[in-house]
Amino acid sequence: MNLFLYLLHFPVYALGPGRRVGLWLQGCARRCPGCVAPETWSFAPDTSVPLEDVARRILSFFQRSSQRPDGLTISGGEPFDQPEALLELLRRLNLEGANDILIYSGYRIEVLLERHPEFFANPPLLAALVDGPFEEGNVTDSVWKGSDNQGLTIWKREFFPRYEEWKRRSARNLQRVKASRPKGGSAWFLLGIPRQGDVPRLKNPYYKQGDEPCL
Ligand code: SF4
Repeated sequence: MNLFLYLLHFPVYALGPGRRVGLWLQGCARRCPGCVAPETWSFAPDTSVPLEDVARRILSFFQRSSQRPDGLTISGGEPFDQPEALLELLRRLNLEGANDILIYSGYRIEVLLERHPEFFANPPLLAALVDGPFEEGNVTDSVWKGSDNQGLTIWKREFFPRYEEWKRRSARNLQRVKASRPKGGSAWFLLGIPRQGDVPRLKNPYYKQGDEPCL
């Protein structure tokens, strides 16, 4: 089985609690106006990679003897637009002990529960979900989401404290990193959730560059 991959990076501090592996899936059919990452919309055939390779790379971070990740964050693109591959990946990672998995989805939780109940069964395959489409103009003070309509649901009881603490955080954390592209070569990526209106400035290639939190 293959999945469409945009980026896999470690460490990520800007998307979820703690030090995390970040996985951005390629492809999104939702087309939210003002989306921060339209380059992730197409299901480009050359971004299709074996799921097994992605799982192995993610698990290699969790099997380190030091500097291990606290969890994995999956964003995109729209992760639930490739549900079979996502399900297979989450089952594999949970079995191997990588079980703090946060997913950002543009679908509302009611839709996901109806279409994909297997992700939320007992026990659930994800620790937490940020749901809902990005709404341009619906600004928010919360640093973990892009627009005020989006919600956070915690699915695994053992991770309540860390997600509750993360949800209350007030400092916005963005990273600019140079990383390998699945198609080959490397490029600069902006990781995290910018304040609405800051995107054009932050995406300017002449803006401050560095492998450190930049805001
Ligand atoms: S769901 Fe996410 S990736 Fe897709 S258009 Fe909306 S904001 Fe962009």
